[in-house]
Amino acid sequence: MLRIRKVADSTTAANRAAVEAAQKIMREQFSAMPEEDIAKLPDQLSNPLKHRFVSRLFVAENGRDQTLGVALLLYFSDIGFSYLEVISTAKGRMGGGIGATLYERVREEARALGTQLYFECLPDDPELSPNPEIRAANAARLKFYERYGARPIVNTAYETPVTPGTTDPPYLVLDPLGSNDLPSAATVQKVARAILERKYGLPADYVQMVVSSIKDDPVRLREPRYVKSRRAVKGEVPVPGESRIALVLNEDHTLHHVQDRGYVEAPVRIRSIMAELAPSSLFERLPTKRFSDRHIRAVHDGRLVDYIRKACLIAGAKKSIYPYVFPVRNPARPPKDETVLAGYYCIDTFTPLNESAYLGARSAVDCALTAAEKVLEGARLAYALVRPPGHHAETRTFGGFCYFNNAAIAAHMLSRYGKIAILDIDYHHGNGQQEIFYDRSDVLTVSVHGHPSFAYPYFTGFRDETGIGPGAGYNLNIPLPEHITPEQHRNAVAEALRRVRRFAPAYLVVSLGLDTARGDPTGTWSNRAHDFELLGRMIGEQGYPTVVVQEGGYRVRTLGVNARNFFVGLAAGNEAARHTGLTAQHGLTTKRVRPALEWRSAVMAEDVGRVRSLVASTGFFSAAEVDIAGELVAERLTKGIRSGYHFVLAERASGLVAYACYGPIDGTQDSFDLYWIAVAPEEQGRGLGSHVYARAEAAMRKAGAKRIYVDTSSSDRYAPTRGFYKRIGFTKQVRLPDFYAPGDGKVIYAKALSPEGPRVAD
Ligand SMILES: [Zn+2]
Repeated sequence: MLRIRKVADSTTAANRAAVEAAQKIMREQFSAMPEEDIAKLPDQLSNPLKHRFVSRLFVAENGRDQTLGVALLLYFSDIGFSYLEVISTAKGRMGGGIGATLYERVREEARALGTQLYFECLPDDPELSPNPEIRAANAARLKFYERYGARPIVNTAYETPVTPGTTDPPYLVLDPLGSNDLPSAATVQKVARAILERKYGLPADYVQMVVSSIKDDPVRLREPRYVKSRRAVKGEVPVPGESRIALVLNEDHTLHHVQDRGYVEAPVRIRSIMAELAPSSLFERLPTKRFSDRHIRAVHDGRLVDYIRKACLIAGAKKSIYPYVFPVRNPARPPKDETVLAGYYCIDTFTPLNESAYLGARSAVDCALTAAEKVLEGARLAYALVRPPGHHAETRTFGGFCYFNNAAIAAHMLSRYGKIAILDIDYHHGNGQQEIFYDRSDVLTVSVHGHPSFAYPYFTGFRDETGIGPGAGYNLNIPLPEHITPEQHRNAVAEALRRVRRFAPAYLVVSLGLDTARGDPTGTWSNRAHDFELLGRMIGEQGYPTVVVQEGGYRVRTLGVNARNFFVGLAAGNEAARHTGLTAQHGLTTKRVRPALEWRSAVMAEDVGRVRSLVASTGFFSAAEVDIAGELVAERLTKGIRSGYHFVLAERASGLVAYACYGPIDGTQDSFDLYWIAVAPEEQGRGLGSHVYARAEAAMRKAGAKRIYVDTSSSDRYAPTRGFYKRIGFTKQVRLPDFYAPGDGKVIYAKALSPEGPRVAD
């Protein structure tokens, strides 16, 4: 099995392994590539602002997660082009179509970004490449790309050696991705300048020489040299399916049909939804892949999995086992009889076991995993339309029409490749995900549901269930009253999404219940079709790669319309997020849309890395100082307020944009130190620094501060910092010459706080 996976960052073990494998391939296959370029890859993925381009890493993997090939695409969002920096198979892995599969994936990505694709390729011209062996290898590469319609841009000085006399200077190659429109001279001038300056850091006169040589308007590509027949060129890249939703349908669901009177979880639910979705061009149907049981056993207790399968087989196709005795008195001693045992594993009396229940539930898991894998490959949105649902199934128990927790199994699989948030918007509490991930901080679980005082599952879903151990703070329940308006429901979902944004997941899993609809026999709320569209839009606008897993929803008459509206909103929101460059993945913002600031003072585990990145991105601090900034957050996390470090953090959907760290000075009465204040480069010059400071000052004042101290370097480089302190009301107290280094002194500033307000006292 060959899978092309988009590696978002290097935060998980599996991703670190993929990044390291990619680096190894680069070292082995590109001996001329400077080691520092290879070493900076993880930073390049996580810190696009610093590098002034977004890096997208694709790895070709087999079923055992071995990396067989790598491609690194750089996206220069300000100019709007893609640049293929690296593409290579692993040593000894030539052939097997790995290179072609990777290149085709890269083309799709470039197309989805709305760009054309540029890269460099060594020359096949004898004058530029005199060594016949090297030239033959170069020609083979150019031939490979020519089959896609990618050819060198001619009649420019791009292939001028930087060091005169050296051989094999690269061509600038353009893959127009099947388009007949070639770019203007002005565009390619900008492209060449960006590559030569940002990527290679070449001297200004060389860059100017190359840029001014680009005069053809539009530019021209070399005549085909290897592929003569036009039909042999596979240039066209289909319009990207990014806004289309990968749809995986559980074909086996009809097997599971409980004929008992009043059993609302019935096959007609999916027929009703499909009747509305099938005519829509929004979806792309995918076949369901089979996955091994180990994914289920990674989430559920093996004994539960074995019991469900065995009891279902015992029950057969004709009758069902219903639990009828529950182990309230002695849960430690399971009964022997299989039918009595149902009460040991099941939490209620309406989730029967029979042969088809197992088959249906088992293939629902496959559907959820297929959808998750699609997102791992780079799809923005995927929908597992399944029944039976899964979100009430816990590690050791099933119930509430649910057998295996489809969403949790998908989330756990994805969690190897990045942080996961599960948002459950079913009318009923997602107790399964909560329990399964209750002690984990890498999977955030958030549920908006009817309050357990009146809604199933009655025993969980309260506000004060927030997680334990490392998972403390990573479960959020938002229980709502029995009768609410659609707007109140949306407000609660907005609160849930704010928590998700703070967590900044790599992937989002949505447990979609449509039982919040008006007239649902299991719910009491009143969402209509348009409300579902708004909900979908809110979720889509977050811009996360998202897997939607179907949970409840039982009013058959409106199920399909509500589902369709939800997905119309989801796709539109996601598309909007993509166009405004707000995708959470790379944290870039554009000037057009600037989402609201969110403020907080509580720090979370992720803030160690985020504060470090923020401080580093300003370019003002040494590596040691960046370490210290991160350590203060870590100390606060371990020691709480006893650490003496307090924080004000400002973030947008794109991530942390500014922060301040302050605290009382030991051994003084009411004197505080402003330890850190930093604003992301793209946010500077808009008053955000003063705003962060004002919040920090207000908090210090509240804590009884009478004087605030801050210090900085006396060197020219820090003149803007000193100016900033003066503007926010600090006055210079003392200068310690040569404090940091000869000629580099330390300046200490102070601000006395008047008791009544934020005015400056002398
Ligand atoms: Zn439900």
